[in-house]
Amino acid sequence: MSDVYFIKSDNGGMAGGASALKRLLGEVEPFSGYGRGEFVPVKLTIGDAPCVYQVNPALVKIVVSSIKKAGARPFLFDTSVIYKGGRQNAVDHLNLAQAKGFGQKETGAPFIIADGLLGQDGKEFTLGAKNINKIKVPSFIGMLDSLVVLSHATGHILSRYAGAIKNVAMGMSCRPTKQVQHSSLKPSVAAQKCTACGCCIVVCPVNAVSYVSRKAYIDQKICIGCGECICACKFDAIHINWSEDPHVFCRRMVEVADFILSKFKNKFFINFALDVTKECDCISTKDEPMAAEDLGILASGDPVSLDKATMDLIGRHKRGDYFSNKTDIYEKMFEYAAKEGLGSAEYNLIEV
Ligand code: SF4
Ligand code: SF4
Repeated sequence: MSDVYFIKSDNGGMAGGASALKRLLGEVEPFSGYGRGEFVPVKLTIGDAPCVYQVNPALVKIVVSSIKKAGARPFLFDTSVIYKGGRQNAVDHLNLAQAKGFGQKETGAPFIIADGLLGQDGKEFTLGAKNINKIKVPSFIGMLDSLVVLSHATGHILSRYAGAIKNVAMGMSCRPTKQVQHSSLKPSVAAQKCTACGCCIVVCPVNAVSYVSRKAYIDQKICIGCGECICACKFDAIHINWSEDPHVFCRRMVEVADFILSKFKNKFFINFALDVTKECDCISTKDEPMAAEDLGILASGDPVSLDKATMDLIGRHKRGDYFSNKTDIYEKMFEYAAKEGLGSAEYNLIEV
């Protein structure tokens, strides 16, 4: 059983969480053991362009200041996403970060895109796990001791819940590994968009792509679903199949998160159960319905206890019926995560 700290905040969504966050960090002092001068990566998502409910830059600044106070050197990071939008490559992603107020002036730390210009730069590891074999992750993973993960608790199109586990598994892996977690089915080419530039043919590691009638064509029998061609196509001509079994999707995320987190000695996770939208920050818009009341901020060194406590709280304060249906998807994910050793599905809630 792990400790999960909780502080209430009902001051008006994400924007009103500053005093609660300061008090939480002041009481818990999670960064006091961090090494002087060490780099501390802080994982966050800025949300896609239409999203306005992501973790507020002012809250990020409070975390950054607290890490600096311990004498360490924090930096913010995210990785490129696999779908169309403002975060498909490092240039657009960084421009969007500036536009949404995640500049160094506002947050107190530089923001980097950790998997390079097109989401392909990283190190490969063989996991040999039950649901996923190989992964590619940003190259600093394995080189640094400490990690801080800031997550906005929301619903999610596949897992029904997005929190710390998903933020690590998806957000700390390169684009091909995101594709493999999302879908075991193979991508396909929308012929009308294909300009026959040939980039997908060049990158495919198993020669599954060829020209048919002057358009790229993916041989589904040869394709291994690595996702490299999706990164390579600049014309949005290669599409992802999203029809994945959500339980398999969740188990893959657990296996990837487990591997990534095993590479860090000091870990601290903060979930913001504020502006709890039905869709995650990749999809939500300013008109997004709220699926729960504003609750507050939860934090722990254990991502499974933290996500379980967050969802238990959200479940007791839900709005509408979004968190009444298909709750077995994330509950089974927590069970699997505990079984695999990622953390504990039981927790001791400490109200600050
Ligand atoms: S997903 Fe990978 S294996 Fe399949 S066609 Fe694209 S690059 Fe080739
Ligand atoms: S990279 Fe895209 S546009 Fe270029 S050949 Fe492949 S599918 Fe067509």
